[in-house]
Amino acid sequence: MTEVWVLGSGTPWPEGGRGPSSFAVVHGMEVLVLDCGAGASRRLVAMGRDPVQITALALSHEHPDHCGDLLAWLFACRVQRRPGRLPLLHPEGMSRALDALCVGWPSLFEWPGGGVDRMPLASEHQIVVGSFNISATSTAHSVDTRAYRVQLPDASVAYTADTGPSDAVTLLANGVDLLLVECGGSDVDPHPWHLGPSDVARLLSAARPAEAWVTHIPPHADATAAIAEIAKAGLRIRRAEDGDVWRRGWTSAASPSTPD
Ligand SMILES: [Zn+2]
Repeated sequence: MTEVWVLGSGTPWPEGGRGPSSFAVVHGMEVLVLDCGAGASRRLVAMGRDPVQITALALSHEHPDHCGDLLAWLFACRVQRRPGRLPLLHPEGMSRALDALCVGWPSLFEWPGGGVDRMPLASEHQIVVGSFNISATSTAHSVDTRAYRVQLPDASVAYTADTGPSDAVTLLANGVDLLLVECGGSDVDPHPWHLGPSDVARLLSAARPAEAWVTHIPPHADATAAIAEIAKAGLRIRRAEDGDVWRRGWTSAASPSTPD
């Protein structure tokens, strides 16, 4: 049974109850983490899984609100001597930032008996990791960024990451069971690299996901008005909250399941 856990539904603006971007796609014992904003590993522990034992980590881009927990995460893997290789998916354009981290903290990428396999993704990329069939596509953002679609036997999930209006992202999200969609922009003051509520409504009307959870709404925005605008798409939507769990067919978020 596939679940999606919200580890961070926030933005670069620090908020007490909301960490920056991070989500976990949980399929039995396998865990694919999409982005790791600060505090994501701690949230995963709180929800019942060991960050050191994840299957893979897929980063959307180099902005720290999407990868700020990376050093802490890899240090935990090193200290606990995680065996084997940890796949680290990332856009090609993030290679320079990761190279810099490798220079400064080489021991975080290789340790006795294990290490990180960096997997740079082209602008359109398909890759299978464990049970996760992953499609990545470039988004409309200020740095090289990938949105992800994850196909599993019992569910399909897409994550827009950060993006302005994008036909490629709309196509990627077509008909998924759950779309994690950013709403970091505003209709009053449109932003080229983020979606305003009207942009999100248009995306949903075109992609027709079974359900959409809205994330990345900045604390200074009127979230209630944004959700009301997005609801005009006529689909099942809600604002994602940290700690939420999605499972197909559920009518509301609930507690995470424990592995069999
Ligand atoms: Zn960004």
